[in-house]
Amino acid sequence: MKVVVIGIDGATWDPVIPYIEKGLLPGYSQFWNNGLHGPLISTIPYITQPGWKAYSMGKNPGKMGVYFWSKIDWKDMKIKNINSLGFDGVDYWDILGEKGYKTAIIDMPSTFPPKPVNGVLITGIPHGSGNWVYPPEFEQKIPEWYPKESVHLFVKNEDPKVTMDGLEKEIKSRFDMAEMLWDHDLIHISVVMNDHVSHFMWNNEEIMYRNLKANDEGIQRILNKNKDGYTILMSDHGNGPIEDEFYANELLAEHGILIKKEFREKKISREDVVKFGTKLGLDKLARKLPYSFQKRIIQRIQHIESSMETGLEEKIDWKETRVIALDEGLFYVNPLYYDEREDIIENLRKILENFTSKSGKKVYKNIFRGDEVYWGKYVNEAPDIVAITNEIYHQRYPLSGYIWASDIPEEKWGYRLRQVGHHRIQGIFGLVGPGIEARYTKASIYDLAPTILKIFGCEIPKEMDGKSLI
Ligand SMILES: [Zn+2]
Repeated sequence: MKVVVIGIDGATWDPVIPYIEKGLLPGYSQFWNNGLHGPLISTIPYITQPGWKAYSMGKNPGKMGVYFWSKIDWKDMKIKNINSLGFDGVDYWDILGEKGYKTAIIDMPSTFPPKPVNGVLITGIPHGSGNWVYPPEFEQKIPEWYPKESVHLFVKNEDPKVTMDGLEKEIKSRFDMAEMLWDHDLIHISVVMNDHVSHFMWNNEEIMYRNLKANDEGIQRILNKNKDGYTILMSDHGNGPIEDEFYANELLAEHGILIKKEFREKKISREDVVKFGTKLGLDKLARKLPYSFQKRIIQRIQHIESSMETGLEEKIDWKETRVIALDEGLFYVNPLYYDEREDIIENLRKILENFTSKSGKKVYKNIFRGDEVYWGKYVNEAPDIVAITNEIYHQRYPLSGYIWASDIPEEKWGYRLRQVGHHRIQGIFGLVGPGIEARYTKASIYDLAPTILKIFGCEIPKEMDGKSLI
């Protein structure tokens, strides 16, 4: 028995289907035409973390204890990143491992630091310092063609075709690693490059097709090799076009419920920039170095080159601030003001309901209380308000001095490109294998862990929120 899960970060059927109809993308087509297939409804917020872990744990953020990439620590006055240790629960491959099945998990986001598995775990983004592979000695066996993280990023001064040349190699490396670890019973690969392409190249048909084709070639290889087993195609969330991005905490500041404090910005001199090399020239040079160095150098350059956003932590008055927003419609009331909580929430609701875009559209579609969206033992840590945006608008939490990203002067963008695509709640799902018939279904991301456990004949824990799709 073999199950291979091909997880393509941010994949959506919308751009795929027209190519399937033209007879292109035979890999995706196998799922769409011959498998159990349809959209995969992601978790809220529909982002990489907690999306991937909702897949592997089969439960909602209220049970995992993780709602975003980071969480607000009101006491320490910090926004703290969350890694794999922040999630409460077991991944479905833990259950398979206990039954003696060998598992290989490749590049899944939010798996760092690595937890022991009955096989191999190569962690995905975000990485911290220290060991990133389980068992640790496996790191020596990782070939040079497998980059720890993607280093080919779309930037203003590089032809996207050149960036895509690099991304194609990175995409291929994930499928190559699946083949290298083929002797495992369960193989999961995440291909995260797709999400980056969707964010920045959604309106570039040529690049989008090259990306789909690179993934499709990998999918075909897996399907050809796994003729007798089950293959699942899935994503952590979808993607679609956006009109603009906005800075929610700037909106809260304008309404006086987030208070900025006087802050003297550390000036970066021209000499500092020059000291780090001639921008993208060094970027290119960096790519000849080992991947671990590349990433560090590129991040450094990018940080210096862009001044459009700054962090929140040092810039706000934590005692006077009533509400802080994180990305994706998440809003938190300051615990210092819990006795006024209902009034604050009512006021916030009015601000959000009346918030319109530059083109006059309502920004938020639905406004919920946290406990209307989540359930489980960590629901008390849920955001007080979860506001679902009209998906053509993307909420961000840093401060930029502007509410709308499109108002930020061009020179502040530095190396950065504007996002033209962002997440959607509908991702992709497909399953082919023995006894699976071609049929459309609307699956939930929580259903995948129960489905895989059922294929292996394992009991599905009651704690899981989904159900088996077969
Ligand atoms: Zn993602």
